[in-house]
Amino acid sequence: MSSILIKGGRIVTASDNYLADVLVAGEKVSLIGNELTCQADRVIDAAGQLVIPGGIDVHTHLGMTDEKAITADSFASGTTAAAFGGTTTIIDFARQERGIESPLVALDRRLAQAEGQCLIDYGFHMVVTSVAGAYLADVAALPESGVTSFKLYLAYPGEVMVDDATAFAVMQIASRSGAIVMVHAENGHIIAALTNELAQQGRLEAADQALAHPHLTEREAVQRGIALAEMAAASIYICHLSSHMALEPIENARMKALPVRAETCPQYLFLAREDYEALGFDAAKYVCAPPIRERANQAYLWRGLVSDAISVVSTDHCSYRLGGDVPELGLQKALGHDDFRKIPLGVPGIENRMQLLYEGGVVAGRFDMSRFVELVSTNPAKLFGLFPRKGTIEIGSDADIVVWDPRHRGSISASSHHMNVDYNVYEGTTLHGSPSMVISRGDVIIEGGEAHGKMGRGRFLARGASSVATQSPLER
Ligand code: MN
Repeated sequence: MSSILIKGGRIVTASDNYLADVLVAGEKVSLIGNELTCQADRVIDAAGQLVIPGGIDVHTHLGMTDEKAITADSFASGTTAAAFGGTTTIIDFARQERGIESPLVALDRRLAQAEGQCLIDYGFHMVVTSVAGAYLADVAALPESGVTSFKLYLAYPGEVMVDDATAFAVMQIASRSGAIVMVHAENGHIIAALTNELAQQGRLEAADQALAHPHLTEREAVQRGIALAEMAAASIYICHLSSHMALEPIENARMKALPVRAETCPQYLFLAREDYEALGFDAAKYVCAPPIRERANQAYLWRGLVSDAISVVSTDHCSYRLGGDVPELGLQKALGHDDFRKIPLGVPGIENRMQLLYEGGVVAGRFDMSRFVELVSTNPAKLFGLFPRKGTIEIGSDADIVVWDPRHRGSISASSHHMNVDYNVYEGTTLHGSPSMVISRGDVIIEGGEAHGKMGRGRFLARGASSVATQSPLER
């Protein structure tokens, strides 16, 4: 069993911030203490650096094929880029193709696709699109396979959107089984109607897409999602919250101590409509749903992170290249050159999440290092059934550790990133901190600006109950 002794660093978890040494033995943290003198295969001098739990990104789309396009990042390139940024666990999605397959089949398909392709550990949420017939029982069986989160879309009618009855049925299963329900909260019917209006007016440029997704369509769906979850006594997790108006119902639910949580993403904290509205087709780089809002909206989301109305920062990494320069990937964003309806939706950022949030949160003085760790690692671990195996540095936890150098100075650029994308929406952003070493289950996977470790070493994570899992109404 190999061992690593990390000496002299400042350990920061969601609850603590202290100087101590960490001994990693095999895949686990085995000892924490002052001036440890034990033998180790390798000793790392972490003086002047922070020692934090590996990041957990619970919203990624790697190796995803849908009606429009295939994502540019595979499990291999995406998990490698994630590791460079300090993320040691992702939770991606398996999607039940509507009316065609059981969610258990969908899970097997994604497990087979990811097997041997990931540098870091991974899990899957299940996108449930139908509970017809035997599918209902199959959804209920998912937690036994380590899938304790179900995703529902209240958007994209005719594709993945579910009606209230389906959503309610899935929420009831979650309530009984300790799972949490994730919701894409936008009103799909209204967005379809507004999109048709824009098409009739000939307003189909890339930046016009946001006009079909006004704040109110997000707020309504958040309200409805919370109401349905309350009726089903389920825990709910609002994905990619983008709008200050949609934040209000979440704040209200949190004040009532309902099991409601929300995530936002770097694109909503750092980017703005003003950045892309005059770019012509280049605005396609920014086209996602919900859309990137006006700059004045950002401050509300930052305040939500400070107040704990928002509990997680994930990426919703969904990468498409701007040009069709890689033949096997097809046209990518260029599919929608003349029509935003054909642009594959999504923004890349799996590599940049932690450095960006450190910059905008800790360096900018909005919150402290422990809150940073909580937002990028500890809360995701707790909400998605991985704590305390992941999300903290404790004796017995997986040795997923980032040695973070606060003296680092750099900037983001597509010319140096590891994502398989020909642009970076954060191009030129100044950075004052960076992972200097990334350890995943005891393996050094990033060091000296290079990836190490065997591709495919990442393992599927069978997850337990969510920390906000509710009891069934009968047990109250
Ligand atoms: Mn997504």
